[in-house]
Amino acid sequence: MKTEFALDSNLSGNQKKPWYQRPRIFDQPAGFPELLAATVATLNTAVLHAPCVLASSLSAEDMVLFHLIAREQLPIHTFALDTERLPKATLTLWLDAEAHYGREIERINPVPDRLQALAAAQANSAIFESKTARELCCTVRKTEPLRRTLEGKAAWVTGLRKAQSAGRAQVPHQEWDAGFGLEKFNPLADWTDVALWYFIDRENIPVSKLYDKGYASIGCDPCTRPIRFDEHPRAGRWWWEAAAAANGSATECGIHVTHPSKANAESTQPIIKVTA
Ligand code: SF4
Repeated sequence: MKTEFALDSNLSGNQKKPWYQRPRIFDQPAGFPELLAATVATLNTAVLHAPCVLASSLSAEDMVLFHLIAREQLPIHTFALDTERLPKATLTLWLDAEAHYGREIERINPVPDRLQALAAAQANSAIFESKTARELCCTVRKTEPLRRTLEGKAAWVTGLRKAQSAGRAQVPHQEWDAGFGLEKFNPLADWTDVALWYFIDRENIPVSKLYDKGYASIGCDPCTRPIRFDEHPRAGRWWWEAAAAANGSATECGIHVTHPSKANAESTQPIIKVTA
């Protein structure tokens, strides 16, 4: 089961280290106007591939994109995957963001039959005991609903950034997503943490309250924890999996997989079946 993470500190040793705090940037970073212009240009290229959608996780990055899409009045429909395991703060932000921008973030749920089969196949706690079980949960709650939602779309937009992890260091602005069979745009690929948080504060973009409680990366509630200031930003995701704890490069749920060509698209098909 997930451990409770107290932010106060009657703790000892390494546990006394300060928690991560998201940056507060008041001065415009060098080159920011050019970076922002390039980002808007990428979004405008994305809409040439219609229909184009934003797959939002309600992360800080995705809130920046949702903000820019609203500001530029771009024809990009936004949806988010409700895995039915999201933190309360994410659900609150979801409603706040829709009210703030007057735009819907479509709710995509897992298929009930698949959830029933998942529950019959494994207990909720199984995700902490086996990577296979964790990946099965991600397949049913995330990958399958995403695949269903992307069917018939020409392009999708994500908030991936090179700075997020070693595994994302080569993220391009545009790529062919062979796994899902459509163009993929990553307009924030070159954004640093400094640029991200400067823009969020400058534009008063709503973001999750969890960023003020030690969280640097936010996913499902059972699989997300706050981090210490010197941990890798993605160390709070699936932290019990040893590879993830090593360098953060393995902290992916299977949605963002790089494929050099269409030829290996089959490798992204869900290979785990729920048999219940
Ligand atoms: S992140 Fe955790 S709770 Fe969410 S789908 Fe994956 S394993 Fe399940």
